[in-house]
Amino acid sequence: MRLDSDYARQLDSQDPLARFRDEFVIDDPTLIYLDGNSLGRLPKRAATRVKETLDHEWGRRLIRGWGEGWYTAPQRVGGKIAQIIGARPDEVAVTDSTSVNFFKLVMAALEARPGRRKIVTDDLNFPTDLYLLQGAAKLAGGGCRVEVVHSADGLTVANEALAEAIDSDTALVTLTHTAFKSGYVYDMPAITESAHRAGALVLWDLSHSAGAMPLAMNECNIDLAVGCTYKYLNGGPGSPAFLFVRRDLQDGLRSPIWGWFGQKAQFEMGLDYNPAPGINRFLAGTPTMLSLAAIEPGVELLLEAGMDRLRAKSVAQTEYLIALWEAMLEPLGVDLHSPRDPAQRGSHVSLGHPEGLRIDLALIEEMNVIPDFRYPDNIRLGVAPLYTTFADIHEAVARIRRVIEERLYEKYSAHRPEVT
Ligand SMILES: *Cc1c(COP(=O)(O)O)cnc(C)c1O
Repeated sequence: MRLDSDYARQLDSQDPLARFRDEFVIDDPTLIYLDGNSLGRLPKRAATRVKETLDHEWGRRLIRGWGEGWYTAPQRVGGKIAQIIGARPDEVAVTDSTSVNFFKLVMAALEARPGRRKIVTDDLNFPTDLYLLQGAAKLAGGGCRVEVVHSADGLTVANEALAEAIDSDTALVTLTHTAFKSGYVYDMPAITESAHRAGALVLWDLSHSAGAMPLAMNECNIDLAVGCTYKYLNGGPGSPAFLFVRRDLQDGLRSPIWGWFGQKAQFEMGLDYNPAPGINRFLAGTPTMLSLAAIEPGVELLLEAGMDRLRAKSVAQTEYLIALWEAMLEPLGVDLHSPRDPAQRGSHVSLGHPEGLRIDLALIEEMNVIPDFRYPDNIRLGVAPLYTTFADIHEAVARIRRVIEERLYEKYSAHRPEVT
């Protein structure tokens, strides 16, 4: 592969998705933003939509807004996200945070598998998921416990190791589909099948996958899933998350949070809880309308781009990044902390260096590059194919090289900041 910057520009000029970059607010064109996997950029249409929601809907229509689209927004936006994750429109709703949705679905799954005492997950999982599982197991009582399968190499977990942990005592198998540190993508069909063979339910956290690659909830016969909307879906900071519950399971599962938005015939204001049919029973309280309004335009952009084309560009870009790493950074002692095989890799690449934190700080402070850092030594470079260019990737690697070669990181403190 050619490694010169002309080649990066050539790849950009041949990119069928190039026009989507103009759909985003890009205030500083010299900033190289490689953190779209933590917080996606602001779509111009989202800014317009939020302004309309403020000025017209809230400002003029006031409470009438609930009858003019607000009340059904969780299902409407959910129906669009369903297309991105390969689900039916009535299987997805947008509500609450990923953490809260995860908790709701874990508790629902445990209740649906009475007598089974085990939840299987692994040590590459995202911390909030692990904490929520610990809390859920304690709440469920009856000796319920979390079995954490360990990764042998810190990057991947073998299907066999997971399959071995799943048994007739397993109520739930839950994993993050794209691991947040290494970017490892699990074999969703195989692991789901192992769980189902043992009679367990599966819950996939799609936070680092949704909007980055095609997903197939229905084709893989997935039971339950959750995911963020502020990462590759570009929904904005703290935007509400989505949850997926397979249609035939919906009426047999129950959220542990019995709120009025999950109530059958909500506005009859009955005194006793009676769960609504379908996906609505997994809602709890009033939707956060301003944040919810911001999500829809980003989802529409992804649908316009097409998930297959998006994935093709993502793979081309992470492959390009790894080729540049090999030529320019590996000789300087930078390791690759992501799988080499693109089929096993999501849309970010982690690089490891003992001075990772200080390199990260130097990149942000004086190189106008925003990656992110994940303890202990991962510099995470997120590729968001809707707006990341090949030139961005080429330039980012050149700037990382400069920070290391010229030891620019040495003036930064290795003391960990509160937020990374
Ligand atoms: C980002 C992320 C979350 C975040 O959950 P919040 O409730 O939005 O804070 C959860 N799980 C995974 C796998 C994530 O990557």
